[in-house]
Amino acid sequence: MSKAHQYAPESLMMSFGYKPELSEGAVKAPIFQTSTFVFKTAEEGKAFFELAYGLRSKDQDEELGLIYSRINNPNLEILENRLCLWDKAEDCAVFESGMSAISTVLLEFLKPGDLLLYSSPVYGGTDHFIHHFLPKIGIDAVGFNANDSKKDILDILEKTGKADKLAMIYMETPANPTNQIIDISLCKEIANEFDTAEKTVKLAVDNTYMGPLWSHPLQLGADIVIYSATKYIGGHSDLIAGAVLGNQEIIKRVKTLRTFLGNMSSPNTCWLLLRSLETLKVRMEQQMKNARELAVFLDNHPKVQKVHYLGLLTENDPSYEVYKKQYTSPGAMISFEIVGSEKEAFQFLNQLNLFKLAVSLGSTESLAQHPATMTHAGVDPVHKKALGITSNLVRLSIGVESANDIIWDVEQALDVVNVTVCTTNKNENKAILL
Ligand SMILES: *Cc1c(COP(=O)(O)O)cnc(C)c1O
Repeated sequence: MSKAHQYAPESLMMSFGYKPELSEGAVKAPIFQTSTFVFKTAEEGKAFFELAYGLRSKDQDEELGLIYSRINNPNLEILENRLCLWDKAEDCAVFESGMSAISTVLLEFLKPGDLLLYSSPVYGGTDHFIHHFLPKIGIDAVGFNANDSKKDILDILEKTGKADKLAMIYMETPANPTNQIIDISLCKEIANEFDTAEKTVKLAVDNTYMGPLWSHPLQLGADIVIYSATKYIGGHSDLIAGAVLGNQEIIKRVKTLRTFLGNMSSPNTCWLLLRSLETLKVRMEQQMKNARELAVFLDNHPKVQKVHYLGLLTENDPSYEVYKKQYTSPGAMISFEIVGSEKEAFQFLNQLNLFKLAVSLGSTESLAQHPATMTHAGVDPVHKKALGITSNLVRLSIGVESANDIIWDVEQALDVVNVTVCTTNKNENKAILL
C-alpha cells in the first residue's frame, strides 16, 4: 500500500488489517471458527499472557498474540481495526449486542455512589438498565431533554444534591423517534466543569442513528462512542452486535471487562459484519437519498401533519447550527405525525406493502413501526407526551429500494386512511377526521 496516499475508509473496507499470506492466499478473511490458538513455544505463550493480563507493557511494535477466542480472534480484530477508520478512533471493542456494549461501558466507568446524567429519551433497553439495574449497585441517574439549555442542565444536576459525584454524561442524538438534536460539544463543556483532580467525567455518545458515516462524536469531544451494530453497520437485519470506540486507555478498560463478562462477538458474526462494512457507504448514502425524497413527499401530503426529518430543518430553526456542526447528512430515519390518532396510524401501517412492519432500523429493507405502542410502549404517558411520542406518530427506517417504489407504497397506504382532506385550510390542520 502506498504510504504517500491516504485512502478513504470505504476504500479500505475490503482489505485493511487482513494478510492473505497468513490464510492460504484467500482474498477474503476466512471465518476463524476456533476457540483456542496454538502457541509456537511455551515462551511465546508466556509472553502473550503477560500482555493479556497487563503484567508488563508492550514492547515497541509488539501486538497481543492470539490466545483464546474470548480474548481475541482474527475476525474480531480485523473488524475492530476497520471500524476505527470511520470514527478516526485509536481502538475499538466489538460486542455481541448493542446492549452488551452499552451495559459494559456503564459498568466499567460508574461505581457505587456515582451520578449519571443522560439525555432523554434514550433507547428503551438503555433506559431500563439505567433505572432498573444501576440503582441496585448504588448508581443514581438523572435525565435532561433535547430542549434544555446549559443552565437548565446545570440546574438539574444541582437539584440532585450530588452533582460533585457526576461520573458520566451519556447521550443519544438525534433522539429516537423524534430526531431532536442534542449538542455534543455543549455536553463536553458540562462534563469538563465537573472534572476534578481525582476523576474526569466521561462523555459517551450512542451514535447508532448517524454513525459511523455521518457523525463523528470523538472529533467533537466525546470520550466514548457506542453503536448498536445491529443497525446500519450490520445493515441487513440478520445479526445482533455492538461496538465501542475511544482512545487506547478507554478501550483497554472496556476490553478487560469484556474478557470477564464474556460478551464479545462470535467469529461468525464478526465475519458477517466485515462483509457488511464493504458496502456500508453505498448503502447508507442510498438510504439517505431515498429518505430525502420521501420526506419531501410526506411534507407535502395533506394527510400528514408534521414530518420530523433533519433534511427539512431550515436555517432559522434553533437546532440548525448544531445540525451543521454535528452531521454531514440528514440521515435515513423519518418520523411523521399522521392526521388523526392511533386508529389512522394503524390503518396506514397495516396497508404498507413494501415496507415491513417491524422495529429495528438501518437495514437494506424499509421498516415502519408505531413508537407509542411499540418501541416506546414502556415510557410513562406524561413523559411520552413531553417527548412528542404521540399516538399519531409513525417511525420509518428507509432502505435501499427504489425511491419510486418507497414513495408509491407510502402513498397507497396513506390513500386508505380515513380522513377527509380539507384543502382550503392546508396550512393549519391539513385534513380533518371523518
Ligand atoms: C437498537 C439500539 C440499541 C440496542 O442495540 P442491540 O443491538 O439491539 O442490543 C441501542 N441504541 C440504539 C440507538 C438502538 O437503536
